[in-house]
Amino acid sequence: GQDLRIPKIASSIRVIPDFPKPGIMFQDITTLLLDTEAFKDTIDIFVERYKGKGISVVAGVEARGFIFGPPIALAIGAKFVPMRKPKKLPGKVISEEYSLEYGTDKIEMHVGAVEPGERAIIIDDLIATGGTLAAAIRLLERVGVKIVECACVIELPELNGREKLGEAPLFILVTSD
Ligand code: AMP
Repeated sequence: GQDLRIPKIASSIRVIPDFPKPGIMFQDITTLLLDTEAFKDTIDIFVERYKGKGISVVAGVEARGFIFGPPIALAIGAKFVPMRKPKKLPGKVISEEYSLEYGTDKIEMHVGAVEPGERAIIIDDLIATGGTLAAAIRLLERVGVKIVECACVIELPELNGREKLGEAPLFILVTSD
């Protein structure tokens, strides 16, 4: 059956056209966070899916993976690992580059945050081209972590981002087209 919480989550997300530049339909999850029921339902759905699956790592992608990741990590008894933009983490880091429309960007993780053989989920608010999540997958796989799944609140399916994720499954709540 259909999860009746999903339409309410979908309608709590505000879409702002032409932000941060012309042609982008920005999916604003701050309005989801203001809706106490939608926010709780969002976290609950992920927790129901991942609890008891032997997941010891919730990796959150900066910045909005830092909002959804920690409550999921606490509820399933996993650690939270931030995957950050360059030059933010103070310790020794391992980093992974990915390409943008113009140029490249990087995400970084602390050395020693995870151990080979751990099982992880990777959380972000949204998948567009999939470049960010693909880099997060590569980074964790390089240190021997098994990616059980990537999880996002929103997918922009027209960009075919899920094809960039290789073997890693993608779970999403809301599709935006
Ligand atoms: P991508 O690497 O292309 O999949 O882009 C995903 C990242 O960019 C996520 O961290 C999103 O928060 C952000 N992002 C990309 N497109 C949008 C959009 N239309 N609305 C909101 N955030 C977006």
